[in-house]
Amino acid sequence: MRNWTGQSLAVLSGWPGALPLPLLQAPWDWLRAREPWLRSPFFPTVFNFLTYMAFCSPFLALDLLHPRLPALKKYKIQPQASPSAAALLACLTRSLYDHLVCIFPATVAHWYWRPVSLPDGAPELPRLLLDVVVGLLLFDFCNFLWHLLHHRVPWLYKTFHKAHHKHISTFALSTQDSSVWELLWLGLFAAGIPVLLGFHPMTEMAFFMINSWLSVEDHSGYDLPWSTHRLVPFGLYGGAVHHDLHHLKMRLLVYCSKAAVVLSSFENTNYHTAVG
Ligand SMILES: [Zn+2]
Ligand SMILES: [Zn+2]
Repeated sequence: MRNWTGQSLAVLSGWPGALPLPLLQAPWDWLRAREPWLRSPFFPTVFNFLTYMAFCSPFLALDLLHPRLPALKKYKIQPQASPSAAALLACLTRSLYDHLVCIFPATVAHWYWRPVSLPDGAPELPRLLLDVVVGLLLFDFCNFLWHLLHHRVPWLYKTFHKAHHKHISTFALSTQDSSVWELLWLGLFAAGIPVLLGFHPMTEMAFFMINSWLSVEDHSGYDLPWSTHRLVPFGLYGGAVHHDLHHLKMRLLVYCSKAAVVLSSFENTNYHTAVG
């Protein structure tokens, strides 16, 4: 595990011959100035909920606008589908309930067993980016195995994963509309990977936020010109279109994972024949 506390600010700045400050030092100092809040047992749950809502918001706005703006319809993966107010409210209520009853106790336990440590020095940007990419790939692999198992074993599917599949078309707030079992496992992967890989706390926050954004984008129901699956070359990234189809036809072997396109090829699965 890396020793981030070894980078004292006295060495990093000011002194003759000192190393230049990392690019991320200023934002890290800004975050560290909020140390009491970052160390609070409430922080992980509130941060999780607020980032989730913030990432869902633009897609919720599109959901409200697209029935009135025909130009937006071409970006909707299932143009005829639009979440009802009742479905949105049910997802929002469920998400609030899960954060209070399920995620909060789990994050308090994590906070108790692994007290927050805030080193003086920020991570180097290239290191942060590399760590985040490795963390995302590992998370995706764990998620893929979990997902595969819960589709292959009928009892697991019915008991734990079916709740997430009640939505035939995806929309942003359906991202975390899952059973408590599923939420806890995905939370365990998201919390365990930074520990396993020895992430700097700032890297951990970046990993968490990017992972959360990708999950929401996968469930957004929109295929936008700047969607991640359009930015990653060679069709390596499944993204929103694949995941929407997974909800529409869950018998597909192409599971929702971002790496699913690659991994499913190991099983000789042809996406297009599977859809048909
Ligand atoms: Zn599934
Ligand atoms: Zn889903």
